[in-house]
Amino acid sequence: MRGAVIHGPGDVRFETLDDPKILHPTDAIVRTAATCVCGSDLWPWRGQDATEHAHPIGHEYVGFVEEVGAEVTGLRPGQFVVGSFATSDNTCAHCRQGWTSHCERREFMSTCQAEYIRVPQAAGTLVATDGVPDARHWPGLLTASDVLGTGWWAAEAAQVRPGSTAVVVGDGAVGLCAVLAARHSGAERIIAMSRHEPRQRLARAFGATDVVTERGAEGVARIMDLTDGLGADSVLECVGTDAAMGQALRGARPGGSVGFVGVPHGVAVDGQELFFSHVGLRGGPAPVRRYLPELIDLVLTDRIDPGRVFDLALPLADVAEGYRAMDERRAIKALLTP
Ligand SMILES: [Zn+2]
Ligand SMILES: [Zn+2]
Repeated sequence: MRGAVIHGPGDVRFETLDDPKILHPTDAIVRTAATCVCGSDLWPWRGQDATEHAHPIGHEYVGFVEEVGAEVTGLRPGQFVVGSFATSDNTCAHCRQGWTSHCERREFMSTCQAEYIRVPQAAGTLVATDGVPDARHWPGLLTASDVLGTGWWAAEAAQVRPGSTAVVVGDGAVGLCAVLAARHSGAERIIAMSRHEPRQRLARAFGATDVVTERGAEGVARIMDLTDGLGADSVLECVGTDAAMGQALRGARPGGSVGFVGVPHGVAVDGQELFFSHVGLRGGPAPVRRYLPELIDLVLTDRIDPGRVFDLALPLADVAEGYRAMDERRAIKALLTP
């Protein structure tokens, strides 16, 4: 089969690879229907994460079950499945508490920009749809694999409540999905921080009521203007930089909450500032698997349309162009189909 391999910064190649095989009886092999490039794939693309040796890449996927291991229950070849970027057995102590992305048997998917994928803990990780969904729903279902679920997690971690005010820091696919999630959680006012016009439009379509283009101290000042000087009840931090975290913590009201879902790079939180702010802080890899049944239902019944974050569709063979377009902010998110 063929798939993407990252060799170093700016160097993703579409190569012939060994077909994935069942290695453990709990594995399944999935034939990819659609996959995509994630904002977090840009960290190694930009050299901000080191690539010590060439390796396959990609962690978002929907597809068809091709083969299941001897111990996989509830799945059969031909089914259409959506899976989380983090594998989970759904039976360990952490999974039973809902922390599926902290499963004792967790592995992070990392070979998904390919024609076939081996999925560990398949019975827990994958959710099959009822029949094969119409292809127009595939992009939306694909977002559930990571960015939509991560947006949902941002809203949960930031404790978005009906009638509240939420700020979303970051206008990538996760930030835009976080706007959708805040809306779904009943936030009355949703302030999207974005200086990029097409993304502002999509944020408004997803439920943002206000857009703040300023950043840093000026951005925080704008949030204060919009919230009678109080700050927001919830801030959803969807970037992962120190600047974004600073804006998030300073944009929350005393007693408010920050959910941080961008993988932190160089983020340093000042203990004294956090202590005296009375702001609650929670983050981590999203427990996407817990949300999947709800997200799949919302997409298939057209109550949300998160597939709109894909503004570039490419053949999988052109995967490198997907990275380039996202890196240069020509595209929000690149959809790849074999
Ligand atoms: Zn991702
Ligand atoms: Zn588990």
